[in-house]
Amino acid sequence: MTPPAARPYNFSAGPAAMPVEVLQQAANEMLDWQGTGMSVMEMSHRGKSFISICEAAEQDLRELLAVPEQFRILFMQGGGLAENAIVPMNLSRGGVVDFVVTGSWSQKSAKEARKYATGHIAASNEADAHTTLPDPAKWQVSADAQYLHLCSNETIHGVEFHDLPDLKALGSDAPLVIDFSSHVASRPVDWSRVGLAFGGAQKNLGPAGLTLVVVREDLIGHALSSCPSAFDYKTVADNASMYNTPPTYAIYVAGLTFQWLKRQTEGNAKGIAAMEQRNIAKAKVLYDFIDSSQLYQNRVARNCRSRMNIPFFLRDESRNKAFLDGAQAAGLLQLKGHKSVGGMRASLYNAMPIEGVQALVAFMRHFESTQA
Ligand SMILES: *Cc1c(COP(=O)(O)O)cnc(C)c1O
Repeated sequence: MTPPAARPYNFSAGPAAMPVEVLQQAANEMLDWQGTGMSVMEMSHRGKSFISICEAAEQDLRELLAVPEQFRILFMQGGGLAENAIVPMNLSRGGVVDFVVTGSWSQKSAKEARKYATGHIAASNEADAHTTLPDPAKWQVSADAQYLHLCSNETIHGVEFHDLPDLKALGSDAPLVIDFSSHVASRPVDWSRVGLAFGGAQKNLGPAGLTLVVVREDLIGHALSSCPSAFDYKTVADNASMYNTPPTYAIYVAGLTFQWLKRQTEGNAKGIAAMEQRNIAKAKVLYDFIDSSQLYQNRVARNCRSRMNIPFFLRDESRNKAFLDGAQAAGLLQLKGHKSVGGMRASLYNAMPIEGVQALVAFMRHFESTQA
């Protein structure tokens, strides 16, 4: 297998850059997975080869994220947006659900849940244009909430919870549900504060098509009777994520990513702890440069700036197209901001090496020097 030519740096928010070693291994195994004479996408999901792939992926993920025994790991489909319906169908019992709105994604979740439950906004940063995190001590939690939902990293607005709230300390017994789509595997998770976490794979785990759900066992088995069987966590858990055909190829490639993550080290840190150190260093390079420049601006409060998704703006927005064209020519791809906020966005997921961030900053500095 010839080594890959240098590839451009890809800052897409998702589907996003994958580790090159993972792509290469998938390419090497494309026609014949480990002597079976089949591609993984040609195998029965009930056969022993695929079952071994799936079990290894689940076990590796459990190790990586230190998922405690009393949580089930489910491989589902439908993405984060489907979970906006699937979570209330499974957990709400048709009752009251609290939402903390910190950006587009949590807003969407709150809206969708209202089809199945009574949604209550416990806190919102809308008045700050989604650039802050509401102080948990001031959240208006409902006494009878079935759960509280938040998005632990707002991919579009670039707002991240660096600590998950302790709901018990806020006087709530409700389980915490987090949408961790865009920062899963970028840092450890404090499972003692979480009841359920979900995320699409296409940001930081693998290809689109796979949705990860990690759910505490006691929250399984309470679905509304109208919940489709394929979306009932109990059906999915009882059938080891194989009630119907799972997204086999996406699970396989995500599994290769988990193996890649397990191999990563940074000093004494391994796996997710190593990734966290790298992600802190990468984000610092970009934020420090933005904050020191006259041209670029990030509007998110410093205590909740995302390490993964960094939106930034040119002070002269008429230069946006010139910036993006120049970046593309310099091998820096997919930096256009989300259409709802405009400007630029650099997503620095696990597969982005620090060299990519340094190349971006070098380009930004050069571009600034060419502006009048
Ligand atoms: C991308 C994203 C989603 C939507 O995921 P789909 O797979 O497109 O449904 C939901 N929540 C967050 C935080 C995201 O980043």
